[in-house]
Amino acid sequence: MLYFDYNATTPLLPRAKAAWLEATEQHWLNPSSPYRAAAAAHVRLEEARKRLAAMFDVDPRRVVFNSGATEGNNAVFAGFARTLGANARVAVGATEHPSGIEAARFYFQGRIDWLKPDVCGVIELDPSRLEKNAAVSLMAANNETGVLHPWQDWAAACRERGLPMHCDASQWIGKMPLEGLAACDYVTGCAHKFGGPKGVGFLFVPEGFAAGLLGGAQERGQRAGTEDLAGILAMLAALEWSESQRLNCSSRGKEHFLKGLQAALPGVEVLGAGAATLWNTAQIVMPEFQSTRWIRALEKEGFLLSAGSACATGKGGPSHVLAAMGVDGQKAGRTLRISAGWETSAEDWQALLEALVKCHRSLKQEAVDDDSQVISI
Ligand code: PLP
Repeated sequence: MLYFDYNATTPLLPRAKAAWLEATEQHWLNPSSPYRAAAAAHVRLEEARKRLAAMFDVDPRRVVFNSGATEGNNAVFAGFARTLGANARVAVGATEHPSGIEAARFYFQGRIDWLKPDVCGVIELDPSRLEKNAAVSLMAANNETGVLHPWQDWAAACRERGLPMHCDASQWIGKMPLEGLAACDYVTGCAHKFGGPKGVGFLFVPEGFAAGLLGGAQERGQRAGTEDLAGILAMLAALEWSESQRLNCSSRGKEHFLKGLQAALPGVEVLGAGAATLWNTAQIVMPEFQSTRWIRALEKEGFLLSAGSACATGKGGPSHVLAAMGVDGQKAGRTLRISAGWETSAEDWQALLEALVKCHRSLKQEAVDDDSQVISI
């Protein structure tokens, strides 16, 4: 099976698994327990915090370990609602992950200034938005299209005006340079997007911020709940590995694939073309047939990928990301999201291209067979 859905989740890296097993066997005690035997777990936890902080060049006191990006995004908006004042408005990217969109709606209702993308999916800096709002939340890289936002510009402008800036960097971390993220007051990250385990992540917060859960003094009182030390150490091992691989990764395989696909299947459209995108991600509109049919046909050929939109995977309405980019519902129903990994080879991309061409032939044949059945009835 060839896996092209890394933006959904990544396989657990062997070194992350080894770190997890070692910690589970040797450091299973509660890091907060009072006896000396537990001190080793506490020491490992604080070392992990320092290692992570050093990778981003942030103060370790800003690092809060948690269960992942959904929790991180919810904690940020809950915190904004607590601290920004009853009438405060927030500027939020219209293409954020649902965990950001829904949390913003829950806590701010009518007080959200949605930042709309251009037709390529990019949300360029608009300084006028900073006059009207008390905080900004903008993701670094979009999970559906892979489009990169100029979050650095937003962060610098927010800093100049003393506005808090949140960046959901879940899809950026492990794929793109970490430099500069420390300039955002809040940063969301999660391990399972870069080869770590599911259910563990982190949030960078400004000092003194209470990052959500109540009922315990863990994480310097910022997030209650026993830390998942094994998960945290596995996450660190995964991030260190993906960082070491990142420099060898380029969008060459993807670009070659897209060129070949457009030549083989005229009418294929690439979303976000013209914008900078993650090296691993391409979202395309197929010229015909619904996404679900492509996904099923490709799985039979040994390829796993997704549509990237809840609509096409049958989970709900049309993708808010594509709608914000002005992609019509018809097209949105024919999208495929292809997201590769650090080890995806040129041969893997070529195999996917050939599988798409083959599936196109078989879906066309199915359509002809269906038509002739209707005629014979
Ligand atoms: N934010 C982005 C940009 C994502 O891609 C995802 C996962 O799909 C999340 C948040 C949610 O992450 P988690 O699965 O850690 O809750």
